[in-house]
Amino acid sequence: MSNPLTLDEPSLRAIVDEVIRGLHRNGSTAPSCAAPTAAAAPRRVSRFGVFTDVAAACSAANSAFRQLQEKGMAGRVKVIELVKGICEARAEEWGKLEFEETKIGRLSHKIEKLQIVKLVPGIDWLRPYAMSGDHGITLEECAPFGVIGAITPVTHSIPTISGNIVSMVAAGNSIVFNPHPGGARCAAVAIRAFNEAIFAAIGIEHLICTIAEPSIESFNELCVNENVRMLCVTGGPAVVAAAMKSGKRAVCAGPGNPPVVVDGTGNLAKAAADVIKGGGYDNNLLCVGEKQVFVLEHVADRFMNELAAAGAAKLTAPQLARLTSAAFAPGKDAGGCSHPVLNRKLVGADAAVLAQHAGASVPAETPILFAETDVDHAFVMEEQMMPMIPVVRVKNFEDAVAAAIKSEHNYKHSAVIHSLNVEHMTEMARALDTTLFVKNGPSVAGLGLGGEGYLNFSIATTTGEGIATPRTFTRNRRCAMVDNLRTF
Ligand code: NAD
Repeated sequence: MSNPLTLDEPSLRAIVDEVIRGLHRNGSTAPSCAAPTAAAAPRRVSRFGVFTDVAAACSAANSAFRQLQEKGMAGRVKVIELVKGICEARAEEWGKLEFEETKIGRLSHKIEKLQIVKLVPGIDWLRPYAMSGDHGITLEECAPFGVIGAITPVTHSIPTISGNIVSMVAAGNSIVFNPHPGGARCAAVAIRAFNEAIFAAIGIEHLICTIAEPSIESFNELCVNENVRMLCVTGGPAVVAAAMKSGKRAVCAGPGNPPVVVDGTGNLAKAAADVIKGGGYDNNLLCVGEKQVFVLEHVADRFMNELAAAGAAKLTAPQLARLTSAAFAPGKDAGGCSHPVLNRKLVGADAAVLAQHAGASVPAETPILFAETDVDHAFVMEEQMMPMIPVVRVKNFEDAVAAAIKSEHNYKHSAVIHSLNVEHMTEMARALDTTLFVKNGPSVAGLGLGGEGYLNFSIATTTGEGIATPRTFTRNRRCAMVDNLRTF
């Protein structure tokens, strides 16, 4: 891990305990003399969006949705301004909070991910579509759904929540989050702070709700709650599959395993630096982050030399074998199909920690490890979320694309090419058919970080909406005026 930091006063524990205590103080306060009965069950009253009870959270969010409607577009703009401003002002504090709780990734990147929430687009994206003709005028508008149930990953807890809030509130919705349990405490701290500011500014207390102690049971409750009109899932295959079975409209930002092809026609030093930048970001926790490289054999040695020259550390074959047995357990699938199981304890670990498991020693600041592997290696085929990038030598471009397709598992998430050959770029883009395709840059350029475009932390790959915008969370409603209001 990166340097563990101890929070100054108030410590993480104190902050979170205060949130939970607040819930109970304001909550289960049935008079102690009265034995609770089914009819008089203690009613939990929560403050500023942090709930222990899913039904209560959904009901409060539904009332908040109505209140937001009363505040008009100005209300939405105010909320977005507050959320972006708070993320920037508290980036360092909350970056530390999240890092202390999740213990994965790199502190500087946790902080940066909060500083860039300001790049997530707001209400400007809600442009109506107008039609005018002999029969009058018709307007199609982007209307809110109502309450959105949102599931967020441990890899970026507060940033995903903040990006979701900007998009979903811009679209006029309220939200109930069921965050990953590993990042639920910092989520509660952030959501409470957002609601306090929103309440002070426009008088809505529970616009953004969260479940203080989330679980798969609370996720299931959220899925069936009648107030929840839409789900948004940012996470791995299991939760995406569960949401798709819920019967509710679901926007699913699912898993990736982004391949990189280096065909040798471009600048190898730049390709190496870009792979380090994207694959090393937050210790390779980003879903878009480079996870494996296929390099044409005539430039493979030179490419790996460039990786090493740019600060990456190469593992030998025995070191790779040791790390692989620490990072993956053999699978237990029925039918003789062996599918390695990721050791979650090493997800998001520093390269230096991974090196220790490999029996090697590298400087603490080493951005990534790399090793030459075969095409079916676990580090190639699994979404490892570790700063250890396998490099596979391939004979020609066709083999590189075939291997890239196989390793991407048809997630249709992200892929990268380093090439000056336009035909290669086109061929790979068509063959992989991914949501993001980056040419000659780090993967993060596809999120508007160094490339053109806008940012969000939820990329709806599985259901096809792409990088989430406010429009992603709207219903299209048509209003037709017949034979009138056309002014020419
Ligand atoms: P995860 O799937 O383990 O957890 C995500 C959420 O789902 C958590 O809240 C978790 O508690 C819950 N969950 C897990 N299994 C569940 C089940 N069977 N039923 C109900 N809920 C369940 O993911 P993670 O480790 O937190 O995040 C990493 C994954 O998320 C990676 O696969 C990554 O690619 C993906 N991700 C995708 C995007 C995107 O925008 N497409 C962004 C970030 C992360």
